[in-house]
Amino acid sequence: CGIVGYVGTRDSVGVLLGGLKRLEYRGYDSAGVAVIGGDGELRTAKKAGKLSALQEELAQHPLASGTTGIGHTRWATHGGPTDENAHPHLGDDGKLALIHNGIIENFAELKAELLAQGVEFDSETDTEVVAKLLGVEYARSRDLRASFRAVLARLHGAFTLLAVHEDEPGVVVAARRNSPLVIGLGDGENFLGSDVAAFIEYTRRAVAIGQDEMVAITPDSVAVTDFAGTPVPFEPFEVQWDA
Ligand code: GLU
Repeated sequence: CGIVGYVGTRDSVGVLLGGLKRLEYRGYDSAGVAVIGGDGELRTAKKAGKLSALQEELAQHPLASGTTGIGHTRWATHGGPTDENAHPHLGDDGKLALIHNGIIENFAELKAELLAQGVEFDSETDTEVVAKLLGVEYARSRDLRASFRAVLARLHGAFTLLAVHEDEPGVVVAARRNSPLVIGLGDGENFLGSDVAAFIEYTRRAVAIGQDEMVAITPDSVAVTDFAGTPVPFEPFEVQWDA
């Protein structure tokens, strides 16, 4: 029920865990992170239970540090609260990771289509269908933004989605429909959150993403478009917050 994304110069695991901690008040049953390591490889850690269970896992099996990452707390809707069902979910080749808050209403028909193509699933979630579909589209276009748009065009329901691909380190793509998404604007770094609480420790300059809009952040750029890729103008605001 919480989403954090980071790209910049800090070690992203710390930023992600801190953000998820500040989103804890929303409630959740599992947590996970995906980071593109300095060695260029995507790695994930995910656990059912509290953030402390994920932290314990990371203490025992640390992820190689990296400056691009996404973090998630899950409120299970499709599939029980297990380690396998926790997010992130991966594409077929294990090179892309995706997190999701919300419900994909047409996941069953998309899953049937992917199963018929021989795609295998590791979880019972609606979300993994989106991750696998993105993998199929990425194999076709080799372009994260274009493949993400192709996937968005097929989804019904409610979603805040974030994705990273190890062949495009330094980019996080995200989109929203009937579920919140905000950008936190930094200096040489940018943030995404389901709520400004996700990044308030680092910046108070934020952009609220509109319905059916997509965003791609890099350390020094922010691009907002509609689901067809047409640029959408945006207006930053200053977050009022009494810490
Ligand atoms: N529907 C997804 C799942 O059950 C996401 C739930 C959420 O919003 O955290 O995994």
